[in-house]
Amino acid sequence: MSFADLNLIPELQRAVADEGYTEPTPIQSKAIPAVLERRDIMGCAQTGTGKTAGFTLPMLQLLAPYANSSPSPARHPVRALILTPTRELAAQVSDSVRGYGKHLKLRSTVVYGGVDMQPQTKALREGVDILVATPGRLLDHVQQKSVSLGQVEILVLDEADRMLDMGFLPDIRRILALIPTQRQSLLFSATFSEEIKKLANQLLRNPLLIEVARRNAPADLVEHQVYETPAASKRALLAHLIRSRDMKQVLVFLRMKRDCNKLARELVRDGINATAIHSDRTQAERELALADFKEGRTTVLVATDIAARGIDIVELPFVINYELPYTPEDYVHRIGRTGRAGLPGEAISLVSPDEERLLADIEKLLKRAIPRKGIENFTPERGRESRPRRETHDDAPKREPRRTAPATPRPVQKPQRASDGFDFSKPYEPSATASSQPATEKLSSIRGRTTRPTAALLGGLSGKEKK
Ligand code: AMP
Repeated sequence: MSFADLNLIPELQRAVADEGYTEPTPIQSKAIPAVLERRDIMGCAQTGTGKTAGFTLPMLQLLAPYANSSPSPARHPVRALILTPTRELAAQVSDSVRGYGKHLKLRSTVVYGGVDMQPQTKALREGVDILVATPGRLLDHVQQKSVSLGQVEILVLDEADRMLDMGFLPDIRRILALIPTQRQSLLFSATFSEEIKKLANQLLRNPLLIEVARRNAPADLVEHQVYETPAASKRALLAHLIRSRDMKQVLVFLRMKRDCNKLARELVRDGINATAIHSDRTQAERELALADFKEGRTTVLVATDIAARGIDIVELPFVINYELPYTPEDYVHRIGRTGRAGLPGEAISLVSPDEERLLADIEKLLKRAIPRKGIENFTPERGRESRPRRETHDDAPKREPRRTAPATPRPVQKPQRASDGFDFSKPYEPSATASSQPATEKLSSIRGRTTRPTAALLGGLSGKEKK
């Protein structure tokens, strides 16, 4: 299948060709025709599946008849509103809207918190056809009367599960009250919790359910590994892994933002180029940290789940869970940062004894055991591999080695059955099933027409499948 088969207008076909896409991903081949038919959509898909183009391309096509180069703001009311949970995701979606819409005379802008409102206000007052926004900042602009949402025809909630996790439901309700009830609504979520189902029931009319394979399907190119270690040895082990494996670009996850700066500082002290990204940093600091990391100036980016949400780094080879997340779904989000666009990646977890339960939950969600790895040439008190260190002062007093117990790695185990009897040897099945969904129609099968391996890996199945 090609983009032309999806009846995309030439301006959009040119834009996707400019991006280098030759075939739609599974979610795109389902979503594009449905959105063009003005259907509501409930999309169960994560970042990395190509979902942004899945909703942006048909949205641009539906709005194309309104395209005009008039300078009058009245000719550019907000007709499409895309809500995202984080600034990073908002910026990325906005870039996609701009990229895919570059051959159309539609205006778009993005508004999010943590930065000066003035330039955003100016852009809104000049008129925009497509607005990408985080909920809080959008409401600030509504209050200041810099934007009216009375002509919105298409509403997109991207990463709706994360918006609910972040407590945006009251803001979303306020926004819904400001936009016409006669509209097309598209809701995308990586998970199908009860809250999401409730929101979908309130928001969507006769939605088409589109589900693509979770990125934790066995076909995934991500290799999962666990290092079992005492909590106190984690930092030294992290530094050891980065050095001994000669890692050049690593995203490291922690649970708490206050710990991110500390770990980044300690890594720098260990001689590893690291920086932290979390929601307490200013937007400018976050953007700089991300740019340095993307361009290879920083080796390690230490992040919380929320800060890393939506970060799209093509070819990110390593994700390290310094701490396991409290919910197994967050593990899936985290590892979704690597193994993208068909490239292999490694997801390494440093697991202390108090995290065994969290690990068991993750393995249950993945429906497979994660191999435990042994650690070679590592003594935790030095935090470095046991190869000889460069001595700068030959006359420095020789220190007695400390007699702490080394973090001896446990032998490699390959459990097939969890302590609660769960059998990992059974084949993978996605956890969300159509029967539990509110949608009246289900496009459950993503098998079929994908022949391009890249598209298949963006949420699809084996690239071996033929038309
Ligand atoms: P998303 O899930 O929207 O965050 O997209 C993930 C990545 O896939 C982005 O880097 C896109 O540029 C890329 N992508 C989207 N659609 C396609 C396609 N049809 N073929 C190849 N890459 C794509």
